[in-house]
Amino acid sequence: MISFYPGPSKLNENTKAHLIEAVDSGILSMNHRSPDFIELSKTTASLLREKLSIPKDYNILFISSATEAWEIIAQSLIKNHSLHIFNGAFGEKWMDYTQKLISDVQCYRYSIHSKIQIEALAISPKCKVICLTQNETSNGTQICNGVLEKIQKLYPEKLIAVDATSSMGGVALDFAQADIWFASVQKCFGLPSGLGILIYSPKVVEKANLIAERSHYNSFLSLVDRMKDFQTTHTPNILNIFLLRKILEERPSIEIIDKQISKRADQWYGFLKEISAETLITNPECRSKTVITLQGNENFIDAIKKEALHSGFVMGNGYGRWAKSTFRIANFPAYTSEDIEKLQKFLLNYYSSNS
Ligand SMILES: *Cc1c(COP(=O)(O)O)cnc(C)c1O
Repeated sequence: MISFYPGPSKLNENTKAHLIEAVDSGILSMNHRSPDFIELSKTTASLLREKLSIPKDYNILFISSATEAWEIIAQSLIKNHSLHIFNGAFGEKWMDYTQKLISDVQCYRYSIHSKIQIEALAISPKCKVICLTQNETSNGTQICNGVLEKIQKLYPEKLIAVDATSSMGGVALDFAQADIWFASVQKCFGLPSGLGILIYSPKVVEKANLIAERSHYNSFLSLVDRMKDFQTTHTPNILNIFLLRKILEERPSIEIIDKQISKRADQWYGFLKEISAETLITNPECRSKTVITLQGNENFIDAIKKEALHSGFVMGNGYGRWAKSTFRIANFPAYTSEDIEKLQKFLLNYYSSNS
């Protein structure tokens, strides 16, 4: 059985060996203030910086999930007003969670078929943080090139926060174009769930100091203080940090992974066109490289997912308002060419005998 679910997803090939190594190493019984843990945390952060090309003046925090990042940003960085720019269910959820903590949020919804119209944004002067989803996992869109750069130029005084949960580790992100980036590891990193990564610029610390929020175990400034010694405020997911270190050691730089994922995405979309499978997103500029969404009527979607399961493939269910009319296929780095060939062979047969 191969899972093509866009998270949790197929694990990296060597995960089993890495799990055994983690147990044998004794690190899982070590205190999270111990020199051994500090060494692990430090090495992992520095590998992330090197392999993902994170700017020198940006820093990294280990948290528990992307959802936690939504809350950290709301409680510690927004204070009273944020703008949420989204076209799908994850961006909307982020706004909903923020609204529970901050009463005054503004939203700008845009079409899944078009670019964000930056000039049309009437951003309130009160707004502290602009929130965007780089890769919208619910519908398979990505923010087009140049958009973040433009927002940054127009609003240099605001913080830009980017949810890159289903693209970080799979595509090359230009971190300098925003202040806060976060992801969890069960998508492009090919790891078990339960670890989040939050990356931030020096400007974020400046703004956080003005708000000076320290009421929570995961208050941004408390996390930053602890990470100065490569520690966390709570006992972290040591196992997952260990696994992250192992795969970062094995994987090439993000520029090389990005080339491979882009090539595979092009191949996927070309293949789908050839078999006349209908993708939800038709504009190549807005189409995600890591999450491919196919649409059809409810019966068709239901039947193909069942048949796929029968043939050994788990497809990703549709999500949010696309729950019944789509299914999703992950294009994450953990897949081998053979995995993809096998699934495409199944899809070729299915579409040619059922359309
Ligand atoms: C999966 C996902 C999340 C949620 O991740 P958790 O680890 O469950 O918190 C948030 N945003 C996006 C874009 C996602 O794909």
